[in-house]
Amino acid sequence: MIAPKLVDRLHACQKLVVFTGAGMSAESGIPTFRDRFEGLWANYDPEDVATPRAFRANPQFVWDWHVQLAETVRKSQPNAGHRAVARMQDRIPQVTVITQNIDNLHQDAGSKDVIELHGNLLRIKPFEDPENRPDEIDNLVICHVCDGYADYEKCDPYAAKEDFHSIELRAGDVPRCPGCSALIRPDVVWFEEPLDLETQERAFRIADRCDVLICIGSSLEVMPAANIPIRARWGGAAIIEVNPEPTSLTFYADAFIQGKAAVELPKLLKLVWA
Ligand code: NAD
Repeated sequence: MIAPKLVDRLHACQKLVVFTGAGMSAESGIPTFRDRFEGLWANYDPEDVATPRAFRANPQFVWDWHVQLAETVRKSQPNAGHRAVARMQDRIPQVTVITQNIDNLHQDAGSKDVIELHGNLLRIKPFEDPENRPDEIDNLVICHVCDGYADYEKCDPYAAKEDFHSIELRAGDVPRCPGCSALIRPDVVWFEEPLDLETQERAFRIADRCDVLICIGSSLEVMPAANIPIRARWGGAAIIEVNPEPTSLTFYADAFIQGKAAVELPKLLKLVWA
């Protein structure tokens, strides 16, 4: 599966990064983004639905599409791969999961340090329209309920934060912030949006300094997330890739484990630490 030298490297590893993409959750029943012609993605290209542009044009449609995805995510459970990743915490002093997934399954499996590069579908936030930037709004304040940009003339001083926190991504009309009436959206990073800067910098910093990075189930086509394994490589880390298909990383990897996450990760755990 992997060379004895790499097994030694994992035994000696002090700082592990596990970098994951949609393939990590495929066996939990959440279709990968590239499975374009199946299930969830069959009728719509996510690049047309998951954008601020699409939400501005038709918030209800975009909300409903995410509700459908959230229903799938709520029904799913961590698979043996997520559990194997969580168990690596018992063997290595510092394990950080850097995930592109928005499904919360690493946390559900017990991973403690999870950096969510693309947000989390089970959280919501106000829609801050990039076409309606703060410096273009008169009377700008930060809403005391949703912490989004707001017009103070529209803010209800009696609305409470709890009213906002009780809102969920569920079927029905697109909700509005009880304080400033901003439309509510899922707390995920859509296409055409930048990553949260602090989150990105923390992920880069940790990847730059890790000893080993295991890349699981990512096509490495979404930037800037796809830079993370390469940054780890530049920093001198050993790279192990787990994927049924080769990717642009495979050539640079110290080991390519060809197969499914839920099958190969428990095997890797057993081989190295049994
Ligand atoms: P991707 O869909 O582009 O690629 C999936 C990769 O997983 C492919 O390389 C594929 O060969 C591999 N794969 C398929 N089945 C696998 C398995 N059983 N085990 C291991 N690997 C498997 O995924 P991406 O690179 O993560 O980019 C997709 C984007 O869409 C991300 O930004 C992500 O946020 C989002 N997304 C998230 C989820 C989720 O949260 N579960 C699901 C779909 C898409």
